[in-house]
Parts: sequence; structure tokens; C-alpha cells
Amino acid sequence: TATPERLLVTGGAGFIGANFVHYWLSRHPGGRVVVLDALTYAGNRASLAAAEGRPEFRFVHGDIRDQALVETLLREETIDTLVHFAAESHVDRSIEGPDAFVNTNVVGTHSLLKAARAVWLAGAAPARHRFHHVSTDEVYGSLDADDPAFTETTPYAPNSPYSASKAASDHLVRAYHHTYGLETTISNCSNNYGPYQFPEKLIPLCILNLLDGKPLPIYGDGSNVRDWLHVEDHCRGIELILQGGQPGETYNIGGGAERANLQVVESLCAIMDALRPAGAPHARAITFVKDRPGHDRRYAIDERKLRAALGYAPARSFEDGLRDTVTWYLARQDWWKPILSGEYREWVGRQYAWN
Ligand code: NAD
Repeated sequence: TATPERLLVTGGAGFIGANFVHYWLSRHPGGRVVVLDALTYAGNRASLAAAEGRPEFRFVHGDIRDQALVETLLREETIDTLVHFAAESHVDRSIEGPDAFVNTNVVGTHSLLKAARAVWLAGAAPARHRFHHVSTDEVYGSLDADDPAFTETTPYAPNSPYSASKAASDHLVRAYHHTYGLETTISNCSNNYGPYQFPEKLIPLCILNLLDGKPLPIYGDGSNVRDWLHVEDHCRGIELILQGGQPGETYNIGGGAERANLQVVESLCAIMDALRPAGAPHARAITFVKDRPGHDRRYAIDERKLRAALGYAPARSFEDGLRDTVTWYLARQDWWKPILSGEYREWVGRQYAWN
């Protein structure tokens, strides 16, 4: 497989996208990384500050549903590799308002596929290209405690509007490979954590609440299990797939760290006790809130395919990754303070109002 050199990264101002941009630029200097991002509530240009100004980097403010814009970018930047992160990504928001999820995740992904087909497959000799689609293990549904982990052949059974929209996008990507010969790959990964994560998700929400002496909200009885993946391990998994993955294939990426939500929050409390800045409050009231409707019990990833095919293995233990993440949030108040704005506060208030 040819080396990816000129990348279009959609959703590069989001949590995983921004981490990927930094990861890629540090390991592939001299290439090209063009970010296309609509800067929704979840997009934050400040997450890309370390890349701005580098000659390899360009930021384009735009929507993935703008097919003409995407075609222009693919052509004028002679992009060979599209890495598609852009999405509406928060399950709770999809319960409150599913339309944006269908629009961005389904219609938006299809628009990108159409643009890629129009530019890369037009003419007698298709251009060297790769369309990589970043997806989630939530498309496989929910596991019971003793079920085997999800493999790439586990039947799709999405339960939330979010996971249903991601499942639909996965199917479209697959269809564009089988029908039109677009060179696609898909990765389905478990819950990510790490720097630059918007504080609506469990780990950064709890870190910031701990710093502020606020309660730590946990759904149900806290026994729901997720398989935690440090975002840098995820980025390495994607890099391996871009470099050596087979067109038409799907790869699961996991962190090998199944933990119940309550365990995660207790680990966070212990780390915060050790790292707590002088003067920060000691309150750590864990509050069990009414369960999310349709809440999946357990996700677990079987990553043996990626391990065997491309030598993937997560580099960090969950406990080390969690400590690094807390350290990052403690050091980067400049990043998260501006996010705690009216819109965010209103959302957090509304979210727990349905309980
Ligand atoms: P995020 O919500 O932090 O970022 C999404 C980014 O996409 C934002 O920068 C946003 O501005 C941008 N965006 C949204 N709609 C857009 C549009 N119409 N056009 C252009 N840009 C748009 O998401 P994330 O957590 O970084 O997730 C990235 C991808 O990884 C998503 O596809 C998500 O489904 C997938 N994923 C995430 C996780 C996780 O734990 N966070 C796990 C598995 C899979």
C-alpha cells in the first residue's frame, strides 16, 4: 500500500481529530494535513494551536455536506488520503435531538463519499487514494457480562440514534467500496479518553467537577462497562491502517481496558487526591442519576485482527493514561476554561434535568 502523504482530516478540531493531527504532524513532517471542520459546539480551533503556522498545515472552516467544497479541496490540495472524523458524537445529545446526527453522520458521510468518487475515480486511471472512516464499537450493540467481545463480524445492532447514524455511515462506506471500487477502510473503536476531550464526556466532566467541588454524576448504578482506549493508541491504530490496511476491510481498535463507570470515577478520585492542586476542594460526592434511556450495558473490543495483521497493541495502561490525562487537564486550564461558557452550562443543566 502506498504511503499516505497528503491528508484531508474532517473533524480535525474535535477531540480525536485534533489529537490525530498533532500525532501525524509529529511523525510525518513534510507532508500535508488539511483540516475541514464546521466548528460546531464540539469543534475548537484552540485544540489545533500547536499546528497552526506549520507549513504542512491548513485549516478550512466548512461543512462536510458541502460537496463542491470537498471536491475543490481534494483537487487543489492533491489529497491522497481522507481521514473522516467529523460527526455528531455524543449519545445523550442524540437522544435529545437525533436530526443533527442523521444530517452530519449519514448525509455528511455520503456527501464525502460522493466527492471522493467524483474526484478520485473519474477518468480512465483512478488516482491513488484512500478513504478512511472512523467509527465506533457502539454499532455492534450491547454485551452481557459473559458475552465474547465484539469482532469485525459481530452483527450490527445499534441502539441509540447516535450509533444508528454511525452504523448507517459504515454501511455507505462499505457500499462505495463494493459498488464503485473506492478504496475504503473503516475502524470501529471503543471509548476514547485523553487531552482535548470536550467536558461533556465522563472523564473530563468528572475531572473538572472534582476541581470545582461539584458532584460526579454517574448513570444508573455505575456498573455499565466500557473498554477504554487512550486517544494516542487510537491514533496509532489509524496510522497502521492507513499504511497497511487492506481496502474494503474493517478493523476494531481497542484499549484492552474494560472498566465499569464507577471504577473509572473512583480511579479518577484517587489520582486527583494525589495530584490535587493546593486549595482545590476535597468534595467528591458521587451522585447516581437516572439511567440514560436504552443505555448499553457493556462494550468490549476484540482487536486480534489489527494485532495480527498490522502489529497493533495499546501502549499505555489505563491507569497511566488516566494519570496523564488528569495532569494534562490540570496544566491546560487555558484550554478548558473558555469552554465552560453559557451554552455548556445550559446543556449540562438540561441533561440532568431529565432525571
Ligand atoms: P467530537 O464531537 O469531539 O468532534 C467532532 C468534530 O466534528 C468537531 O470538531 C465538529 O466541529 C466537527 N463537525 C461536526 N459536524 C460537522 C460537519 N457537518 N462538517 C464538518 N465538521 C463537523 O468527536 P470525537 O470524540 O473527536 O469523535 C471523532 C470521531 O470518532 C467521530 O466520528 C466519532 O463517532 C468517532 N468515535 C469517537 C469515540 C469517542 O470515544 N470519542 C469512540 C468511537 C468513535
